[in-house]
Amino acid sequence: MKIKNYINGKFENPIHGEYLDNYNPSVGEVYGQVPNSSKEDVENAYQAAKNAFPSWSNTTLELRSKILSKISNLIIEKLDFLAAAESKDNGKPVHLAKSVDIPRAASNFQFFADALTQFSSESHESTGFNAINFTLREPIGVVGCISPWNLPLYLFTWKIAPAIAAGNCVVAKPSEITPLTAYLFGEICSDAGLPNGVLNIVHGNGSSTGQAIVEHPQIKAISFTGGTATGAHIARVAAPLFKKLSLELGGKNPNIIFADCNYDKMLATTVRSSFSNQGQICLCGSRILVEAEIYEKFKKDFIQKVAELKVGNPKNSETSIGAIVSKQHFKKVKEYIEIAEREGGRIIFGGNKVTVKNCENGYYLQPTVIEVANNLCTANQKEIFGPVVTMMPFKTEKEALQLANDVKYGLSASLWTNNLNRTLQFSKQLETGIVWVNTWMLRDLRTAFGGKKASGIGREGGFEALRFFTEPKNICIQYE
Ligand code: NAD
Repeated sequence: MKIKNYINGKFENPIHGEYLDNYNPSVGEVYGQVPNSSKEDVENAYQAAKNAFPSWSNTTLELRSKILSKISNLIIEKLDFLAAAESKDNGKPVHLAKSVDIPRAASNFQFFADALTQFSSESHESTGFNAINFTLREPIGVVGCISPWNLPLYLFTWKIAPAIAAGNCVVAKPSEITPLTAYLFGEICSDAGLPNGVLNIVHGNGSSTGQAIVEHPQIKAISFTGGTATGAHIARVAAPLFKKLSLELGGKNPNIIFADCNYDKMLATTVRSSFSNQGQICLCGSRILVEAEIYEKFKKDFIQKVAELKVGNPKNSETSIGAIVSKQHFKKVKEYIEIAEREGGRIIFGGNKVTVKNCENGYYLQPTVIEVANNLCTANQKEIFGPVVTMMPFKTEKEALQLANDVKYGLSASLWTNNLNRTLQFSKQLETGIVWVNTWMLRDLRTAFGGKKASGIGREGGFEALRFFTEPKNICIQYE
């Protein structure tokens, strides 16, 4: 299958005819080609977006909302087809794509179809000056959206939906590792009546296509989700061009477990938060910190549950853990396990490659649990982004908080306790953008989403996203 760019409502080959191989990680085979688009392709996408902007930014809210809703409906109509495509491209279990990724992509559009009708701006009366201020929230123009491979259509649409809801036109790039559903999404947009040029999708790797988007002087805002090192690079490129930036980056999220929690719920949720999507979710809890008095019990029960997880062909309904996204990423995760061992970590479950019947060349790894003694070890400090968690005990609240915060990342944390004081203390003192108490990854799309420290800048979600994708302008009128 040869993927094409989607520019001005048409599917186009890349100008220089350059392509990258696209792999199916569950069998380790190339099954298609994806354009490696050049600066010229990005320029064409930009021109299409620029031409579409005057009309799209003046489209009535009612019509905009209708089109976004239609996109949402069409995603749901194609649920099975899109879920199968996502799984083939990414290696995740089909049932996960069907229950999480694709429904969420539809929700992203439905949510912003509704939100755009409720978005409003402020007015301030300057008493004593006979003046009234109001704030216009103007769309920025042409914006860039760049997304990663772990939740491909889910995160691609999480950016595009608010961008176009706010009246912008978009040049978007999905990950070159998982381009398939973004490609299929172009047709959905055309079928839903999204005018040509409002969304343009260019495929290619980060250093060519992505870089061309970030460097483009007229693309005035970049919404990026991906690794912290890439985010830092994008910030350096974008800063002298004075671009608005939203950066959603890596995490090293703690699960802090106190003895007074609802144990069974905590145990089941911690297995999920450790290994969902092969541990390749920025929100996965990769450091499990357990109060000393229940540490040994937790360790035994957790390992027993982890042993029940079935690593296998993503097409099988009983598979809990599918394939790692790529050979290169598999190698990286495996190396982190080896480093953990060299640094004194004890692998108490997993650690090895799995050979799956009829998928012998796929990239499968056992869910891996490492007991560590030192929070400063590599496995506790670096984002591994695979089915690997570490575990260590703590004795006091103070120690738990210190361990939780002693990383460069600050995306999310999960706290397990029924103590109200502790809940409030930790909620305030955890250095993360999101704190889940007695739950994990419960997402209300109205809430602000994003991280502190090396996990990023800016927030997505709800009106925060519409604020990011608009520029406020103050109008001050004095009357006599
Ligand atoms: P990545 O940084 O390698 O790539 C992300 C995207 O950026 C891809 O589309 C890539 O092609 C592009 N890119 C790479 N170099 C670029 C450049 N120089 N200019 C412009 N674009 C460039 O990340 P990844 O490996 O695809 O994804 C995994 C990472 O994403 C993990 O660190 C994970 O934590 C993070 N992530 C964060 C969130 C969040 O919401 N905070 C969500 C999901 C994933």
